[in-house]
Amino acid sequence: MGQTTDSVVIVGAGSAGWLTALALDTFCPFLKIRLIRPSRGAAIGVGESTQPDFVELLQAARIDLRAFYETCEATMKCGIFYRDWNEVGKHYWHPFSDLSLGEQFGPANLSANYTVAHHYQQMILRRRGSHARYYKSVHSSYEPCVKNKQVAPEAAVAFHVDAHKITEFLQRHLTRVEVLEADDLDVQVEDGRIASIVLDGTRTISADLYVDCSGFARAIHKHVAAPDILPYEANVNRAVAAQVPYLDIEKEITPYTGAHAHEHGWTWSIPLRSRVGSGYVYHGDFCTADQAESNFREYWGAQRMRDVEVKHIAFDSASLRNPWVENVIAIGLSAGFVEPLEATGLNWTITSVQLLCQSLAARYYDRDTSAKYNFNILGYVYDVQDFIDAHYKLSERRDSEFWRYITAREYPERLAHRLAMYAVEMPTNRNRIKATPWAFSELSWLDILNGYNFRYEKVDVDPRLMEVSDALLEKIAAREPHGIHPLKCSPRPDARGPQILLDQQTGQPRVSNY
Ligand SMILES: Cc1cc2nc3c(=O)[nH]c(=O)nc-3n(C[C@H](O)[C@H](O)[C@H](O)COP(=O)(O)OP(=O)(O)OC[C@H]3O[C@@H](n4cnc5c(N)ncnc54)[C@H](O)[C@@H]3O)c2cc1C
Repeated sequence: MGQTTDSVVIVGAGSAGWLTALALDTFCPFLKIRLIRPSRGAAIGVGESTQPDFVELLQAARIDLRAFYETCEATMKCGIFYRDWNEVGKHYWHPFSDLSLGEQFGPANLSANYTVAHHYQQMILRRRGSHARYYKSVHSSYEPCVKNKQVAPEAAVAFHVDAHKITEFLQRHLTRVEVLEADDLDVQVEDGRIASIVLDGTRTISADLYVDCSGFARAIHKHVAAPDILPYEANVNRAVAAQVPYLDIEKEITPYTGAHAHEHGWTWSIPLRSRVGSGYVYHGDFCTADQAESNFREYWGAQRMRDVEVKHIAFDSASLRNPWVENVIAIGLSAGFVEPLEATGLNWTITSVQLLCQSLAARYYDRDTSAKYNFNILGYVYDVQDFIDAHYKLSERRDSEFWRYITAREYPERLAHRLAMYAVEMPTNRNRIKATPWAFSELSWLDILNGYNFRYEKVDVDPRLMEVSDALLEKIAAREPHGIHPLKCSPRPDARGPQILLDQQTGQPRVSNY
């Protein structure tokens, strides 16, 4: 099987369908792109916390970031703030930071294998530091974001966005994409490949490649393969979600996504410009839908929630081992999902479609192309699964049946091996248990593991590196923390690179004052 590639049909008009169209339009301008949208049946409507790659894709597509920001009710996201995950009353911070931002100090990213974050963990062993002081000592975003709820310019690299408005905006922007409306798709299969799709019994279309973005329905992929699902035990599988009004936006808005752990699961809070996107995530074996809804309403307060409608969502943590089969590739929820924690859904879609664009650059694909794609995505999926599992496995919480089960249950051997290796060597770019592309950096692992008081053994480090690291930590400690109120900033119109903020009071780009 070899296929020249001039045309693509995307089925589904949720975030995955439109982001796939955006990336293909941007990176594969030679393609004829058609997108099938049902007249009924909405997109899932969640997926509002993004990662930096989302903004980078908008930038690559030359979208006016400020227009997007305003139209999509966006706010800046500097990271994720975790409450009560390890113990009730304790918190941890997972910011967007690669520590190379500290270059103004000198060689902050001393080597990819020993950053100031690694160094601070070694100081904990030498009783010169503590897990509680790690975030403040290592991340300049901690003080402004967590303590003052202000946007730290150096970490403001992603957005919170209104999920429905993203798709509306992209549809208006992507004028080259032909949109076909159809409710009944009759998929014609010949020799294990899609030959064509008949739309509403009237019009027949065909393409060189079909992208299944139909969400959990997996409407196209299922015609070419029985689902080969990666073995994975989900920690949570249901959510109650709602658009929660602010009582006092000035006080309540945060520059981060909140992830607050509870007895039966956790609540996400995604602050937008006019409301908070929120949901209570739980496992159906430990909590009923009624209980979850009542806990969720209680969390936000009966008064505030009086007129708020909630949506109950059952989600599937099933990921396809081979999302690309013959001339069909599943992208988005149809390819896989773990859970809302760490906002990996849109990142997964963007990672997939970027890899697809690279695969199609030669305007030709065959079984080797799809095999390579599937192999690479597998590395990404394992990384997502391990990273999310670590949040549950390592917790000290035992205060409910849910936490007792989730902390005692079996996790993949891969994760156990990874944690044992990290304890001895620390997470570095040498000991990744992952193929490229991967999902989370070594620094992300350090940030999360610190939240669980994870202890590393002493590692051999050149004493000069230790000295430079000490000096860097002193400089971080001496800095003046600064931030901007979340409602008083927006992206620079010419934004490029990680620093995308504009202070609306001064009209000047704000950069880190490390
Ligand atoms: C509870 C929850 C919270 C989440 N939170 C986040 C988050 O904060 N950040 C993040 O990055 N991700 C998050 N995600 C994931 C995120 O929602 C998805 O990655 C994203 O919305 C993409 O969804 P999709 O387009 O694949 O599917 P959908 O939004 O379900 O869209 C599917 C589309 O296919 C159409 N369709 C369905 N069946 C057919 C058919 N038979 N024929 C034709 N068309 C069809 C539908 O009408 C729709 O247009 C979350 C997911 C869940 C479940």
